Amino acid sequence: MSHILLEKWKELEEELKVQRSSLDRETLLKILLRWTQEVKKIKDEKVQELYHSYLEYFENCFFPENNITPWYSLKELIDVDLLNRPPLTYDRAVIKVRDVLWELLVFKSDILCPCCGDDNLRVMVNNDNILIFTCDLCGCILNESGKKTDVNGKLYPAPMSMIRLAGITANPVLL
Ligand SMILES: [Zn+2]
Repeated sequence: MSHILLEKWKELEEELKVQRSSLDRETLLKILLRWTQEVKKIKDEKVQELYHSYLEYFENCFFPENNITPWYSLKELIDVDLLNRPPLTYDRAVIKVRDVLWELLVFKSDILCPCCGDDNLRVMVNNDNILIFTCDLCGCILNESGKKTDVNGKLYPAPMSMIRLAGITANPVLL
């Protein structure tokens, strides 16, 4: 028997395929966030654990005005990350959605990570609403002056208004 999350994944896949030609960032976000809320309702201990680890975070970080240009093109996120290969395991289904939500919601700057030099920094805010920069690749966390910093509590995607005010520019989109 297929796991309930893989069934849920198939529903998502179908919906994305049906809407493929008209999918923009906003619609994709809506579909994915609705999917996370459906996962939340599944009464299964393991599913709840996965929801808590990977998806619950997004309940608190959706800024409708944040029109982020994803670092990977929308086409790549949809056709490669979501639709190209079905997840092999049910937990991978959740992680795939988490990864795409992250791309859609968190601004990626053109600042190269000074710790690993291999990736560009994401722009986040801490509990005090101060800009913090993080690296997806090495996990480095830096303050606005580029110094390594400790963070208490969670970081959330920085609002576009703050990013603009700080004069941070986006990483050019890879097509
Ligand atoms: Zn790094």
